[in-house]
Amino acid sequence: MTTANIEALEASAKAELSALLAKESISLKDKLAITPQKPAELSPLERRTTMQETSLGFTESQARLEANRCMKCKKPFCTASCPIGMPVPAYLELVAAGNFEDAIQLIRDTSLFPSICSRVCPHEKQCQQNCAIGKSLKDPSKGLSLGNLERFCADYEREKMGGKKILPIDAPTGKKVAVIGGGPAGLAAAIDLRTFGHDVVIFESAKELGGVLRYGIPEFRLPKEILDYELSILPKMGISCKFGITVGKDITIPELFEKENFDAVFIGNGAGLALKTGVPGEELKGVFTAEEYLRKGNLSQPIESGKNVVVVGGGNVAMDASRMAFRLGAEKVRIVYRRTKNEMPACKAELHEALEEGVEILELKNPAEILSDTNGRVEKIRLDLFELGEPDEQGRARPVKIEGKEEFIDADTVVLAIGSKVSSEIKDSTPGLETNRNGTFIVQNSETGETSCENVFVGGDALHGPQTVVLAMKTGRIAAKAIHEKLS
Ligand SMILES: Cc1cc2nc3c(=O)[nH]c(=O)nc-3n(C[C@H](O)[C@H](O)[C@H](O)COP(=O)(O)OP(=O)(O)OC[C@H]3O[C@@H](n4cnc5c(N)ncnc54)[C@H](O)[C@@H]3O)c2cc1C
Ligand code: SF4
Repeated sequence: MTTANIEALEASAKAELSALLAKESISLKDKLAITPQKPAELSPLERRTTMQETSLGFTESQARLEANRCMKCKKPFCTASCPIGMPVPAYLELVAAGNFEDAIQLIRDTSLFPSICSRVCPHEKQCQQNCAIGKSLKDPSKGLSLGNLERFCADYEREKMGGKKILPIDAPTGKKVAVIGGGPAGLAAAIDLRTFGHDVVIFESAKELGGVLRYGIPEFRLPKEILDYELSILPKMGISCKFGITVGKDITIPELFEKENFDAVFIGNGAGLALKTGVPGEELKGVFTAEEYLRKGNLSQPIESGKNVVVVGGGNVAMDASRMAFRLGAEKVRIVYRRTKNEMPACKAELHEALEEGVEILELKNPAEILSDTNGRVEKIRLDLFELGEPDEQGRARPVKIEGKEEFIDADTVVLAIGSKVSSEIKDSTPGLETNRNGTFIVQNSETGETSCENVFVGGDALHGPQTVVLAMKTGRIAAKAIHEKLS
């Protein structure tokens, strides 16, 4: 994608916007006739060799034109299906009028990290899913491009308004809260707790803040520059961080209360323990969990990723790992999945991007064994073959193994992207802290996130299992409010 392409998109949107604004009033028919806008993006071949962000975002006229498509529904589906209730029509009205400064202010009143959520939220399953304009056009993909509109406003603030401002902090309460984990749940909890006037210390086992935002979601979807921008307010607000400390190993929750005099603890340790398939050969050289593969790729650490990569799984993490494989030098990347593309849990947009970049999908197959060459490195995979059976509890067709049928494929690298769970060090080191069978923490009250231990709260993936960034932020904020009420 060249500058000329971006200029052409801007010129075309500008001309259409001028014609629209020249009308005495804009009717519903006019709105339905506006060309749905798509941001400029790198071409699939360019993308495969760079960690640069794939999408280049809307230009100013594109944003205004797209916002003008909004029908200002009386009962907006977009707001109702946004986990944090973003006042979409109100901010779109401001964008449509070119008042980007007030638009971002309105967005920030609801979201702590709009430049992140606008890039990573599964919009097609949330706000965009039921947009009335998509319904009127009988094509959900023509609903308002809400992620791109929010991104435009957040980028405008960063590039043209001198950056985000720190939030006001209430008078000191004299109370101390420990936050375990610096992912979106812990970050959201820490910021809100600080604004309430508490002293906040984040204990993070890694060397930097961000959790999955830094180590999991690839740079080509969420640039680290954007993450660092959103996190830049933390030190300015006086939030302290202790890095390289794993709670449950280096210090325990009882010690945080008794020795360090914390008044409350928030657990936001995520669900970062990768699951394995259990098939023979998982320990071979060249076999990685998606967690390790993406972490090393994101941190540019050395990783022996080969030319012929097979990713196992059908979710967004599998899409990220397969796309990362090209950036790590692969020539052939295939995803092996037990069902078909139609049943994949991955967002359609993520699947589309992976396919565009050349990832192939091997449907109705699953590894039965991973085989090595004479040096102990993966060389082949033996696959079981499946067909679709009756639907499961969620209505997805079950994969049914076809007995007696198998297939072999070559691979020099295998990435397992079959899910993750909460690790157990915090539960194991905290008497009375109860968890479900899958490792998530049991709460006394879902309205507060308080666990079975008094003054110990939880949010994010550690509460609800692997979900989304926006839900992690939301539950972190719910717990922060509850902690504040309890400590007051
Ligand atoms: C590859 C990948 C891609 C994803 N893509 C998307 C996406 O596009 N959109 C989306 O909405 N969601 C996505 N998700 C899911 C989303 O990232 C998570 O739901 C979200 O990050 C959960 O936030 P969290 O704060 O609960 O946990 P995490 O982000 O996992 O953060 C937990 C933090 O706690 C730290 N920690 C763990 N244990 C301890 C301990 N004992 N002591 C101290 N620190 C500890 C970890 O180092 C980490 O920094 C993706 C997930 C993955 C893995
Ligand atoms: S559902 Fe779509 S058209 Fe209706 S208010 Fe929301 S963004 Fe606008």
